[in-house]
Amino acid sequence: MARKVAIVTGIPGVGKTTVCKETEALAAQEGIKLKVLNFGDVMVEIMERSGRPLHRDRLRKMDISSQKVIQAQAAAKLAKAIESADEHVIIDTHMIIRTGTGYLPGLPKHVLDVLKPDFLVLIETDPEEIAARRTKDLAAGERLRDVRVMEELKEELEFSRMVASACSVLTGAPVVIIKNPTGGQKEAAKALLELFRG
Ligand code: ATP
Ligand code: AMP
Ligand code: MG
Repeated sequence: MARKVAIVTGIPGVGKTTVCKETEALAAQEGIKLKVLNFGDVMVEIMERSGRPLHRDRLRKMDISSQKVIQAQAAAKLAKAIESADEHVIIDTHMIIRTGTGYLPGLPKHVLDVLKPDFLVLIETDPEEIAARRTKDLAAGERLRDVRVMEELKEELEFSRMVASACSVLTGAPVVIIKNPTGGQKEAAKALLELFRG
């Protein structure tokens, strides 16, 4: 069985990490070897190790050149982890990052070149649901979420699809859109796990 790499993306609060965790649990139940690596975790760890600890939701507020340096370092670490893995790998990350100065691509060509994805996954749901999830996480103090007006969320969803198509052309990997409506995380995880069968 060939080992596969799926890069899972989606706008903040859409439920990527939730769906990835469900997928990991489902894979374990079924005896499918799969692990999830979170790009943001690796960036946070790099910042900590360099003596500049930063909350994960502050990374996107750093100046662009610093974000690009940490992004490249994180990609190199993840590439090593992928190379040494004997199981399927999911990378939990972002197609775009809304920074203080525009949309930064989460997967510029040099990152795609080292991660070598077989699938590019976009997790999506309605902007109204994403807004509600961000508001809930902010109120719970779990995340420092950007709560945005509906038009801005629609723009993020639309722009993510455009950037996904560019990544698909660069890599030859298909874009797989998986819906994560309210209460639908298990169904979404089933759809994600399907990519690793056969
Ligand atoms: P980020 O990009 O900021 O890491 P994310 O896409 O990983 O965000 P999660 O942290 O997984 O998003 O989920 C955001 C919130 O939405 C959480 O409170 C989570 O419990 C909730 N959530 C995720 N999926 C669903 C779902 N299908 N139904 C209801 N709530 C959900
Ligand atoms: P997350 O927990 O997925 O929101 O990740 C935390 C933060 O890490 C994000 O808000 C981004 O600032 C950063 N991040 C994650 N993936 C990437 C990436 N591929 N390129 C640049 N920054 C990223
Ligand atoms: Mg997450």
